[in-house]
Amino acid sequence: MSNSYVLVINSGSSSLKFAVIDSQSGDALVSGLGECFGLPEAVISWKYQGEKTEEAIPAGGNHHKYAVNRVVALLETLGLSSKFVAVGHRIVAGGETFKETVRVDESVIADVERLVELAPLHNKANAAGMRAAMEAFPNLPQFAVFDTAFHQTMPEKAFVYALPYELYQEHKVRRYGAHGTSHYYVSREAAKAINKPVEESNFITVHLGNGASVSAIKNGQCIDTSMGLTPLAGLMMGTRCGDLDPSVIEFLFRKGWKQEELFEMLNKKSGFLGVSGITSDARGVLEAMDNGNPRAKLAFDIFTYRVAKYIGSYMVAIGEEVDAIVFTGGIGENSLPIRSEILKYLKVFGYQEDEAGNAAARFGQSGTVTTADSKLAMVIPTNEEWVIASQSVELLNQ
Ligand code: ADP
Repeated sequence: MSNSYVLVINSGSSSLKFAVIDSQSGDALVSGLGECFGLPEAVISWKYQGEKTEEAIPAGGNHHKYAVNRVVALLETLGLSSKFVAVGHRIVAGGETFKETVRVDESVIADVERLVELAPLHNKANAAGMRAAMEAFPNLPQFAVFDTAFHQTMPEKAFVYALPYELYQEHKVRRYGAHGTSHYYVSREAAKAINKPVEESNFITVHLGNGASVSAIKNGQCIDTSMGLTPLAGLMMGTRCGDLDPSVIEFLFRKGWKQEELFEMLNKKSGFLGVSGITSDARGVLEAMDNGNPRAKLAFDIFTYRVAKYIGSYMVAIGEEVDAIVFTGGIGENSLPIRSEILKYLKVFGYQEDEAGNAAARFGQSGTVTTADSKLAMVIPTNEEWVIASQSVELLNQ
């Protein structure tokens, strides 16, 4: 059978990632990133046959639309326009409407727009990305893969907040989670790695990137996850605060803070950046910590302590033998000291770091990071694009 390629589009609030992915192997023929949309330094770059090219995006106009048009022209120039059989879109918030991947039509786009209040920065860009791609490739089927879909199996006790129940009934205020595609992918790969059917496997998957979340996966299904109504909840992140006493907000309101200032502070000025006062980037925080900066050390401590506490609580949620803890995301895949510190907290559950294993599982390399007589923790690099491509082809072939 010949390979089926899919053009995968991931529109962020100020960026657009794209790749032409082989749905069978996950390899990318070409991949690229447009970023800093709306700013003078807006730029688009791509990697093709090992070579990286970068181009400035002209100021003004709609940069999302510009980027899609540029991608279309680029694929034409590279002779790849007729190579792919579908376009797959990553969509951040699917609410309770989307429990699985769907074929895109006008009503799907309208629903994604309607759900914009659940992910104000993302869904608008996602819908714009779908519209632009429909215009550019009117004859190709398009599919929408939702970040929230994998979490739709959570039981009510995990997703209903202890608020007046009417808020859930009337406004669907509840936990939705995010990063679902990543938690789905690494749990499937982990099951393969331990040679067990995923339907019989229990995992705690730990996605640590700029955004970060933990999921409890029992018999292959998500039963709890740390992000909430929006991706602000749960772990401490690059610039997001994670869990917080809601009274902090009222307290600051009383001090005269405006709604927008609060939103900006919680989403963009907290986390690693807020605590360290240096950077949102884990590498920068680790470097400052090594140079003796006490606030960088504090940021590291809060981050690792909270990840470990979530893992501990998900041991309870799963309530039976956990087959493996799985680290992924930029930090989870690469940071030795962060994984090492988390594993120290987990000694109480029988986890023992294997230093050589921990040192080897980096830079795209999967591996076991615990000793042979320890409970199992491993690293599996995530590949959300591959999930989007393979689910698109699966639906296409139905
Ligand atoms: P996003 O959530 O934006 O997709 P990534 O999953 O790429 O982000 O993760 C970005 C984070 O990964 C950054 O904080 C970055 O510092 C961190 N990271 C990448 N490489 C390393 C490394 N070698 N050591 C520690 N942290 C790393």
